[in-house]
Amino acid sequence: MDAVTHRGQTQVSRETQVLGACPHDCPDTCALVTTVRDGVAVKVQGNPRHPMTDGVLCAKVSRYAERTHHPDRVLTPLRRVGRKGEGRFEPVSWDEALDDIAARLSAIAARDPQAIVPYSYAGTMGLVQGEAMAGRFFHRLGASLLDRTICASAGAEALTYTLGGKLGMRVEGFAQARLILIWGSNSIGSNLHFWRLAQQAKRDGARLVCIDPRRTETAEKCHEHLAILPGTDAALALALMHELVVNDWLDHDYIGRHTLGFDALRERALQWPAERAAQVCGIDAAAIRRLARDYGTTRPAAIRVNYGMQRTRGGGNAVRAVACLPALVGAWRYPGGGLLLSNSSRFPVRRDALQRPDLLAGRPVRTINMSTIGDDLLRPASPDFGPRIEALVVYNSNPVAVAPQSSRVVQGFAREDLFTVVLEHFLTDTADHADYVLPATTQLEHWDIHPSYGHTDVLLNRPAIAPVGESLPNTEFFRRLARRMGFADACFDDDDETLCRTAYGDAVDFDRLLADGFVPLPVPEAPFAAGGFPTPSGRCEFFSERLARQGLDGLPDWLPNHEPAGSDPRHPLAMISPPARNFLNSTFVNVTSLRDIEGTPLLEIHPQDAAARGIVTGQTVRVFNDRGAYHCRAEVSERARPGVVHGLGIWWRKLGPRGTNVNELTSQKLTDIGRAPVFYDCLVEVEAA
Ligand code: SF4
Repeated sequence: MDAVTHRGQTQVSRETQVLGACPHDCPDTCALVTTVRDGVAVKVQGNPRHPMTDGVLCAKVSRYAERTHHPDRVLTPLRRVGRKGEGRFEPVSWDEALDDIAARLSAIAARDPQAIVPYSYAGTMGLVQGEAMAGRFFHRLGASLLDRTICASAGAEALTYTLGGKLGMRVEGFAQARLILIWGSNSIGSNLHFWRLAQQAKRDGARLVCIDPRRTETAEKCHEHLAILPGTDAALALALMHELVVNDWLDHDYIGRHTLGFDALRERALQWPAERAAQVCGIDAAAIRRLARDYGTTRPAAIRVNYGMQRTRGGGNAVRAVACLPALVGAWRYPGGGLLLSNSSRFPVRRDALQRPDLLAGRPVRTINMSTIGDDLLRPASPDFGPRIEALVVYNSNPVAVAPQSSRVVQGFAREDLFTVVLEHFLTDTADHADYVLPATTQLEHWDIHPSYGHTDVLLNRPAIAPVGESLPNTEFFRRLARRMGFADACFDDDDETLCRTAYGDAVDFDRLLADGFVPLPVPEAPFAAGGFPTPSGRCEFFSERLARQGLDGLPDWLPNHEPAGSDPRHPLAMISPPARNFLNSTFVNVTSLRDIEGTPLLEIHPQDAAARGIVTGQTVRVFNDRGAYHCRAEVSERARPGVVHGLGIWWRKLGPRGTNVNELTSQKLTDIGRAPVFYDCLVEVEAA
């Protein structure tokens, strides 16, 4: 690539190269270089100057130009003409759409603004096109707040109770580890740049152990794979602690100086001999002992946790139990030791300045949990719940495809008396249920600024091309709507570059961001080498007084699933729904080249379970429980362990057979900590269709 010549842009004959950031819900937060020719993005590549990206993108985002200039992009505002869900619309002007939306929201707000609910998540991880102007708008309106729990809140809160925040070791440290536990993560598919560091450590002699119910591509490439049953991670972690205690593989100095509650945790761990955990986890006790010996005697040892483990009832406790391990062995002392789930609390984001919660002006507003949107859309008004939901504004999310228990979600979105506005790139399952679909810009068409949960660099995204069609950045939609609804506050005049500058204020050098596209945060090589955990006690809290005060167990423990394996003879198989490798949640399902690789929705099933049901690879199967049924293609495979099936997600319903996807089967029950959904806590049966 040629040298960057002016504020992040390089001119090469008729081509321009523009620096950006991957917007997707992925820990890697890659730095992008987009090549633009005659106003068209022709290539999106990894920035070779950004150390973590190192010039490499995943297969999905390498197709970002194809996605941006996709023939199915929504190019004008659309107004519904068919029934909800039919996806029949007519084009209208922005003025017509905005006037009508403002009038309808104003009428609802005059009765009770809490009847209006925003619904958004990480369709972009950007701070500006995420919740900046949107937050200002909904706070000014007095709309319901949204509890954004659908992915990470169980693990995030568990980390906060244990370590004091979404904090961990620097990802770069994994290259120096001698033992790496990859726990609940298919890193090759969903954390590619971490995987390169793990490979480097492996070449230097490190041992890699994968803990995952599924034999993923990552598990295949590790030295050992422990295929535990879904929802049993805490039992395994407690048994590891048991072995550490009885063999005295402990760092007593670190425990004494930097932890809280060791004696109580020790007693809890002593209740978990390897044989007990082996029975719960469905693995050999010898494998647990071997892993404990490795973990207790190898320095430095590092754990890469991902969000897979927190998608069951006891998910918060599971993350807490695993997060206690590094302090027990003093792994935090080393740059190559410790644990990483997320480092996002390291980013000094000025959320209040961006989202302006002060605009609520003291009005009490209720909070809707996004993970129970199916039930909540169907709830009548009540003193407990507040007003019936009358309007939804959806942006950066596709809840009809991704929220649990689809039958309830679809029923809610199909309400003819619900006014739904969807900001989107494409006619997704959710957009099909909208009264208005409004064309939104993609990452190549707008400004944004990004934290990361997998590394510790701030990234800036500059627009590479003009908005496609009549699309607008989310910010501009909320700006225009705010004016139409009479919100005269000056904060609605801030442009997007101003919002980018506001995000970090003086904490990050904006000129450097403009020039380079990224700025590393100053994070010590071994951040907890001398303790300093930002918990109330300043220690790693094995025992959490804050949890105990809520009436919860102050120590980590194993909580059986809501739907434990083997508990229901009618539905004897435990199902998890990890992402298909070429999709990212429900994004990219409509990118033809990626969907062609995936082929069709799949259920992986172990040969024994398949044989017992007369199922062969390629056959269409019906996967069902009391919540619904889902049809897909069977793949008889040892990627699945006996008793567990994998419904790979997340297909758009309308692109799958019979207009359903795997969330037809998942439930709206929640986790122990963090009020999060339990996608991997789901019993089913499978039969030939
Ligand atoms: S999805 Fe992840 S790996 Fe792929 S480009 Fe984006 S940040 Fe990088």
